Amino acid sequence: MTGTRARWGVVLCAVVAVAIVVIGVRLFLRSSNHKPAVLTPGMNVHSEFSDALDSRIYRVLHARVLADAGGIDKVIALTFDDGPYPIFTPLLLDRLQDLHVPATFFLIGRDAEQWPELAQRIEQDGDEIGDHTYSHPDLDHETPAQVSLEIIRGRNVLWSLTHDPSVDWLMRPPHGRYNEDTLRVAQRLGYHVVLWTDDSGDWRTVTPEQIVAHVERYATQPDIVLLHSGKLATIEALAAIVQRFHADGYRFVTVSQLLRTLGAGAVNHPIRRSL
Ligand SMILES: [Zn+2]
Repeated sequence: MTGTRARWGVVLCAVVAVAIVVIGVRLFLRSSNHKPAVLTPGMNVHSEFSDALDSRIYRVLHARVLADAGGIDKVIALTFDDGPYPIFTPLLLDRLQDLHVPATFFLIGRDAEQWPELAQRIEQDGDEIGDHTYSHPDLDHETPAQVSLEIIRGRNVLWSLTHDPSVDWLMRPPHGRYNEDTLRVAQRLGYHVVLWTDDSGDWRTVTPEQIVAHVERYATQPDIVLLHSGKLATIEALAAIVQRFHADGYRFVTVSQLLRTLGAGAVNHPIRRSL
């Protein structure tokens, strides 16, 4: 009898030990997989973005636990990648004007060169323009010299057309593809690399309802949402997104307004809160 009880005791201890290890590993992976939404020129690229064990441990040790979202502003920055494109960009700008919300456009230099009046309208509407390179390559496949050239050439085209100062310090890598070298080149050029807290998934073929549902489900505080310029479903989703976030007390801002008011720290450790 005593032997049986002892055996059950051992089994119970083993089950508890396994559960603790599983939970520990899951927590470690969750914290260590967390990468910043915005890389500032002063941040350490390796610690913040590498998948190496030392970086993962660094991120776990520096993960911020924010239990109370009360003190953080409810702000959301809508960001639109690519273009400008005829038809889609004017439609998108009309919708944003109707809704009275600003947005940040990461424009491709080559497309802006082809449709200069569209780039200029984005600026005239009071929206923000960031650098999305000149020809939209996968920067993780380019040499540092090529990365530098792509960013500078994109910036020069956008600056010559619009004079938005944000083209000088906000950039987003095409397809969200980068490596440590890519990020260091952008830093050296004085850029904040702007990624996102929520990839809406609108680059896949999805319906407006799916985009709205995704943005609500993965809402964070503060929030930077990745959207795209050439998609009708995205334009159709906007009214519902704006209505839902307004109803929840969010304020719509550009990326530079978000960074200037809250700083990169808040957006790199956002509170996750589905609407
Ligand atoms: Zn793009």
